[in-house]
Amino acid sequence: MYPPEFGYFKPSSVDEALDFLDKEDARPIAGGQSLIPMLKLRVISLNYVVDLNPLTSLSYIKDEGNEVRIGALTRHAEIVSNTSSKVPLLYDAARQVGDVQVRNLGTIGGSISNADPAADYPSVLLALDAKVVISSKSGERVVSAKDFFKGPFTTDLKKGEIVKEIVFPRLEGYKTAYIKVVRRAGDFALASLAMAIKVSNGNVEDVRLAYSGVSDSPYRAYEAEKILIGNRLTDETIQEAAEKAAGGANPPTDVRGSSWYRKEVMKVITVKGLRGV
Ligand SMILES: Cc1cc2nc3c(=O)[nH]c(=O)nc-3n(C[C@H](O)[C@H](O)[C@H](O)COP(=O)(O)OP(=O)(O)OC[C@H]3O[C@@H](n4cnc5c(N)ncnc54)[C@H](O)[C@@H]3O)c2cc1C
Repeated sequence: MYPPEFGYFKPSSVDEALDFLDKEDARPIAGGQSLIPMLKLRVISLNYVVDLNPLTSLSYIKDEGNEVRIGALTRHAEIVSNTSSKVPLLYDAARQVGDVQVRNLGTIGGSISNADPAADYPSVLLALDAKVVISSKSGERVVSAKDFFKGPFTTDLKKGEIVKEIVFPRLEGYKTAYIKVVRRAGDFALASLAMAIKVSNGNVEDVRLAYSGVSDSPYRAYEAEKILIGNRLTDETIQEAAEKAAGGANPPTDVRGSSWYRKEVMKVITVKGLRGV
């Protein structure tokens, strides 16, 4: 299917892009891996796309000691190549996004702005308490991941705003794992778990359990985390936490699987993740 007609604007600076986005009925285009299919399916329409690709200043991975800043235009492939030691949980998720072609074009800014409930990065941002830096003509603001994702394909972004970068705090002494279940290689998650955990003297000091594909937005299982914090990881505590996490989710039923099945998958990946520790 062909998309409806739309105009194309190629900015020569971030300021020019923000000016245009402020004035016109326009959306940024980055990798085009979600925007173009949505235009072709006529789920959305707009007067202009503003091409972020010439704005190479938005593509970077900066290691600043206690945090890692990743520019919005950074491609999934670049994240796979350069974050395995800096943000291992993000690396683990990035290498499971789509296929090689999608990873070569798609960007982290595009993925989180698109806010597909089954996308991989949103649960990673939630598990790591990442921050999203948003730019507009009137300046910058910073939003926590928990406040950025508002619902299916809906974020805190307002007209004229773009994601500039994502800031990941460096977690010392944590183990992390990204476990994704798909029906076919390259699919979006049926359910996935982004986990970060710190264990001291056999007790869980901190744990974050965040899921994609099981709710309208990425879902953090705070109640399940409480079961584990301060306790040992035993078969009983792990099972109890897995049941609690699944009990608090509201997974959709769709062509990939029923709501009941997704909850069962959640339990399995939670147990697998925690036993792996
Ligand atoms: C076959 C296929 C398989 C896929 N599999 C997966 C998968 O397994 N897991 C997964 O997570 N994703 C998957 N994706 C989606 C992929 O990761 C996309 O790259 C991503 O969702 C969108 O990134 P993009 O750079 O292509 O954004 P675009 O498609 O260019 O834009 C997407 C949306 O974000 C907006 N946008 C883009 N950049 C910014 C910015 N900096 N600030 C504000 N708004 C912005 C656009 O206006 C648009 O609304 C798949 C896509 C395809 C085509």
